[in-house]
Amino acid sequence: MNAASAPQAIPIPALREALLTWFDHSGRALPWRAGAEGARDPYRVWVAEILLQQTQVARGLVYYERFLTAFPSVQALAEAPIDAVLKAWEGCGYYARARNLHRAAGVIVAGGMPSTYAGWLALPGVGPYTAAAVSSLAFGEQRAVNDGNVRRVLARLYGERLPTEPWVQARADALLDSGRPGAFNEAVMDLGATICTPKAPRCAVCPLAAWCEARASGQPTAFPAPKVRAAVREVGAVAVLIGNEHSAVLERREGALLGGLMGLPSELREPDETAAQALARLCARLDAVPGTLLGTVSHTMTHRQITLDVYAAQSAHPKTPVQDAALSRLDHKALELLAARRGSLFD
Ligand code: SF4
Repeated sequence: MNAASAPQAIPIPALREALLTWFDHSGRALPWRAGAEGARDPYRVWVAEILLQQTQVARGLVYYERFLTAFPSVQALAEAPIDAVLKAWEGCGYYARARNLHRAAGVIVAGGMPSTYAGWLALPGVGPYTAAAVSSLAFGEQRAVNDGNVRRVLARLYGERLPTEPWVQARADALLDSGRPGAFNEAVMDLGATICTPKAPRCAVCPLAAWCEARASGQPTAFPAPKVRAAVREVGAVAVLIGNEHSAVLERREGALLGGLMGLPSELREPDETAAQALARLCARLDAVPGTLLGTVSHTMTHRQITLDVYAAQSAHPKTPVQDAALSRLDHKALELLAARRGSLFD
């Protein structure tokens, strides 16, 4: 087909059939897709959908297996201490999601597993996307999902450069296959993840190509227009490593710097405060003696870039085994500084 030829008006039954046929042959074999279509294990689907938000599937698979091994059932998750849940979540970021999973597991164990969109939406940390995914994949409810993949595929299919959330939801609802709602949702998501990718859509092998406005325009990546991103705020902080990479003084963070997680004692730098001044404030709080600068590590979150200066220090505070604590990636990077520094002495 000529890449610039005009698409036909969309015959929705034909589009559904083309997409589902493609999905039946080429859909991804993901571990939470075990079981009959429309009757997946809701616990597995729920954990996977929460875990894969903001995480690439390849990396998410490793985290998923680790989490399911630690908590193979919703009962096991509900009964686990929150620190064990945070430890199993380590590396996934966005720790509020792990806390909400744990809280919601308690609600489910007390009141039963919801089987409807509305029931899932009422749980802590479950938004419209996750509620639609679980209710359609595990219970066959007719609910269209609306995430970044769906938005991109539908914006391209209809040639819409500025798709709003209600616009995407309305189009997704209209296209959803009432006989196979879960499979249709999975198919659109898979198409977006594997064929209609952000930078290099493979229109030549796409089951929607015959009806796609963006393909016909010759510039499929122009749809949708890029979102204007909020500026990333730079945040400075200091931390002290009292001990070593195996056993160190740790404390539970509060506030803006990865609040809720265990980590090296740290202080955010006030505006116009030097690292030395923040270090003095931190050491006074800990009754610690500051040592040398071990190095600087940084970590980017959605709207913040944290730059952490890590110093050695001495203190009588009790140390904790590092491997038992749920630490952020920022803290792991900070702990690695000591080993790297030790290694450099022998280079
Ligand atoms: S034809 Fe191309 S742009 Fe259109 S949906 Fe398929 S992969 Fe995306």
